Amino acid sequence: MKFNRGLYIGRFQPYHNGHHSVLKRIAEYVDEIIIGIGSAQLSHETDNPFTAGERIMMITQSLEEIECPFYVIPIEDIRRNALWVAHVRSISPPFSRVFSSNPLVVRLFAEQGTPVESPDMHERQSHSGTEIRRRMLEGENWHELVPKAVSDVVDEIDGVERLIRISGSD
Ligand code: NAP
Repeated sequence: MKFNRGLYIGRFQPYHNGHHSVLKRIAEYVDEIIIGIGSAQLSHETDNPFTAGERIMMITQSLEEIECPFYVIPIEDIRRNALWVAHVRSISPPFSRVFSSNPLVVRLFAEQGTPVESPDMHERQSHSGTEIRRRMLEGENWHELVPKAVSDVVDEIDGVERLIRISGSD
């Protein structure tokens, strides 16, 4: 049997309610979802505070409520965009379609003949990794923008303290 398996790629720094609602929508029209964690090698930076393993925990625990089978895979960046699609295919379960709103990702997959869809993210201004990291740094309420499982992971790893230390803003 051929599965209708879709790949959703993002950096997920952190995974938030915007990604979560997009994923729940994708789950309605694929048999299985692969979530690719981009820039997996990056962590402990102000724009990329969380490790690939921490992002895997955030996503896996948040998705416990969905019925659609899923896989979470880390994808490290490579220096050649022209080879990136082959790199992704070499480490991912097979997939027939891709979901991304990143113009470079859309272009690279389209050039290789893979159908790409760009799902709209609802309430984009607040549902943004940048806004959540800003709120973490400013001591504002970020919990309301992420699934409960993500708050729990960030608390477990002392993630806000890490972000404050690495940004040198305390
Ligand atoms: P990104 O370039 O970090 O994110 C682009 C923007 O798209 C972010 O602001 C993100 O928001 C936003 N976004 C994510 N999903 C969205 C949606 N459904 N609707 C509206 N906006 C959305 O990267 P990315 O697209 O999240 O992930 C792509 C990954 O592929 C990156 O890690 C990139 O490095 C990697 N890549 C690598 C190569 C290479 O190695 N040569 C080539 C291409 C791509 P949030 O911040 O809220 O998530």
